[in-house]
Amino acid sequence: GKGRTWEVKKVRTTCPFCGVGCNYDLNVKDGKVIGVTSNPDSPVNGRHTCIKGRFGTDYIHSPQRLTRPLIKKNGEFVEATWDEALDLVAAKLGEIKDKYGSDAIAALSSARCTNEDNYVLQKFIRARIGTNNVDHCARTCHASTVAGLAISFGSGAMTNSFNDILTTDLLFVIGANATEAHPIAGAKMLQAVQKGTKLVVADPRRIELAERADYWLQHKPGTDIPLMNGLMHIIIKEDLYDKRFVEERTEGFEELKATVEKYPPEKVSEITGVPAEILYDVARLYATSHNALICYTLGITEHVCGVDNVMSTANMAMLTGHIGRAGSGVNPQRGQNNVQGACDMGALPNVYPGYQQVVSPEAQAKFEKAWGVKLSGKLGLMIPDIMDSAVEGKIKAMYIMGEDPVLTDPDAHHIHKAMNNLEFLVVQEIFMSETAKYADVILPGASFAEKDGTFTNSERRVQRVRKAIEPIADSKADWEIVCSVSNRMGYPMNYSWPGEIFDEMAALTPSYGGMNYDRIDAKGLQWPCPTLDHPGTPILHTQSFTRGKGLLKGIEHVPPAELPDAEYPYLLSTGRILYHYNVTTRHSKGLGTHRPEEMAQVNPIDACVLGVNTGDKVEVASRRGSLTTKIAVTDKVPPGMIWMSFHHAETPTNQLTVNAFDPVSKTGEYKIAAVKLEKAE
Ligand code: SF4
Repeated sequence: GKGRTWEVKKVRTTCPFCGVGCNYDLNVKDGKVIGVTSNPDSPVNGRHTCIKGRFGTDYIHSPQRLTRPLIKKNGEFVEATWDEALDLVAAKLGEIKDKYGSDAIAALSSARCTNEDNYVLQKFIRARIGTNNVDHCARTCHASTVAGLAISFGSGAMTNSFNDILTTDLLFVIGANATEAHPIAGAKMLQAVQKGTKLVVADPRRIELAERADYWLQHKPGTDIPLMNGLMHIIIKEDLYDKRFVEERTEGFEELKATVEKYPPEKVSEITGVPAEILYDVARLYATSHNALICYTLGITEHVCGVDNVMSTANMAMLTGHIGRAGSGVNPQRGQNNVQGACDMGALPNVYPGYQQVVSPEAQAKFEKAWGVKLSGKLGLMIPDIMDSAVEGKIKAMYIMGEDPVLTDPDAHHIHKAMNNLEFLVVQEIFMSETAKYADVILPGASFAEKDGTFTNSERRVQRVRKAIEPIADSKADWEIVCSVSNRMGYPMNYSWPGEIFDEMAALTPSYGGMNYDRIDAKGLQWPCPTLDHPGTPILHTQSFTRGKGLLKGIEHVPPAELPDAEYPYLLSTGRILYHYNVTTRHSKGLGTHRPEEMAQVNPIDACVLGVNTGDKVEVASRRGSLTTKIAVTDKVPPGMIWMSFHHAETPTNQLTVNAFDPVSKTGEYKIAAVKLEKAE
């Protein structure tokens, strides 16, 4: 029912769904979250929220929440006390470490959890277990960004702030379905267009932004590099590049020039399917706009050439001097609410918090001193290697906090094998996920509404998450659970509350060094913020790049790992839809009704050939698996392409996707797989 307002407590917090990082007030009555209202002080979104933020948080009180620790006995989960469950986890991890060594254990941390949860988990794995085998789902999305922008600029994150969308002259959006995946960022783009900002959209699908664009480049999937090389070819040929910027701020121009020389418009048009006249128009428009923002997401990163794609966007920006100013830059929008933070916290196998390298003796010595233990200087494994090693029997135990690789990682059958092969699996979760079903022990975590902490949004803004209600039933905050396991294993980790964890982390992480809960309370702060009097950094690379000079690098076209052929004639691409956020929102009644099942997109021409209509079912089969899904007939996808989301456990899209990865970032090629379609009876 409707609570009287004076009985309702309002607690401002940060949205748990996407990387835009909207703030709003959770309305709490009688210890329950009953709704969400705007908070005009929110730095990113003001009074706006999208449908997910507004209606999706009811998953907090879903009857499906895990409420007690569970231990698997004879194949069945049995309720246990915290002491029983934690003792078992500590004993098993200790045993496996003694028997097979530290590197036989791996952990997945979580882009859904707070910075504090992530800091504590990677500390436990490094300091107590003694391995750098800790990774998280950034591997499957923006690891290509972190690696690619590190090569080009020296560091990888959005160079600008979300509100720069409103002040730029040109938005160049490539591989980013912002109105669905980052709705408030998408809304800002549409608002800018209304005020006269030019919009170029490069996307194989006719997404909503494409309909509003001045130019829509419908390039073929997997041809981003030739597309951008073609644009740079024209920009250099027509002498439209920023000579002063190239001279003063970059190196490698001659190499880039020699490479893009090989991509004349006619050839590019043939590879990409984009008419040459449009390439000329867009190249001129991008180069001559006073300010221009490149925005991209997983359409760029989730390819076998994800890192090269990312570096191509950096090349374009540096060549034209469109970087390091308000309204000019390269903006990878991170997907999950705290994927930026989980990376910043060192939930990655190669770096401690703040991207301090595990192979650097100085960094190792610094963390050994702070944590009072000897640390491993050996690089840890990335998720695909962890899974391969589990299949090979080298990884014996895994600790998975708040991730569901069985549903979300490519080539699901391979992941099933890995999970089955483990001697011991502990999953810390709020729902019985597909991965949790494989666990030996399940530890019930608390949702964002039940704990204090911070999330770091895509524009590097560190914002508070505030506890609005007590943990549901017998669940506990993730950081608390990890500390309890560590304490039982003889490595004491005792924090009175997350603010204390934050202070320890900030003291060891230069880019967060000037932050504390008091300073970030009102508006958050954007890193780098190295000292207590530093105001934070809304725009990166204004004077110089993190690596000094920016690196222009010639990049050649890399074809996709698997393309349609006679046997598997359709191209499957995958992504996210407006109504859902990965897997949590399936537990929201408010959102569940909007899209309770998969509706794969099929072009009318193909639908006609297959003899199917909207609402009919088709069988989709790839070399790796098959499934049956309902379809929606729409010309948003080109002929020859089927597009599916990955939100529904009943239609596990990732049983179809390829087991092919970018060689550097190990990000999977979710965007392209060859499939065949047949009408299902
Ligand atoms: Fe939440 Fe993202 Fe929607 Fe904002 S745009 S309300 S952060 S899901």
